[in-house]
Amino acid sequence: MHSLKLFSHFVQAATAVRQGGGTISFEWPRYCLGWTQQSVLDFIAKFDMSSVLIDGCAFGMNHKGEPIKKQWRIITDHKRLLDGLAPWICSKDHKHREISGGITPKSAYYNSLMCHVILNAVFPFKMCAHVPALACIPTNKDTFPAKNTLNRHRNTDVPSHLDQGGTAL
Ligand SMILES: [Zn+2]
Repeated sequence: MHSLKLFSHFVQAATAVRQGGGTISFEWPRYCLGWTQQSVLDFIAKFDMSSVLIDGCAFGMNHKGEPIKKQWRIITDHKRLLDGLAPWICSKDHKHREISGGITPKSAYYNSLMCHVILNAVFPFKMCAHVPALACIPTNKDTFPAKNTLNRHRNTDVPSHLDQGGTAL
């Protein structure tokens, strides 16, 4: 089986990465037969990998507005990736467009939101170490709030769309 040959190469790379102190993540479609193969089960046990299930519809994946339930299973030893992906599961309050014909290859890609969730989990300091917008305008007395003006700062954080999980639609 071609994909098992690829998997054996992945195990070689994963072994080197583990020895070098890196993290390992691997994704296949959720109901792929590969998950039941002994070499894959052995790898998961030997490398103590954890599993997370995600659905494309939770990231807003759709075909002409109809949600697509593209289902993946990811195994990883990256705790933040595991936690970051866990909420992105179907909210089960909609119907799905069947993945067939012309939309099958298109559904094989991660969309922008899914990429952002993954990158934010793996590289949080790269993704968050910037100020998205900071107006730089001349100030004068009128632009400052008057004395005794209510504090307009929010007391609680407004959730980022990266935290929504399953409610992106
Ligand atoms: Zn769904």
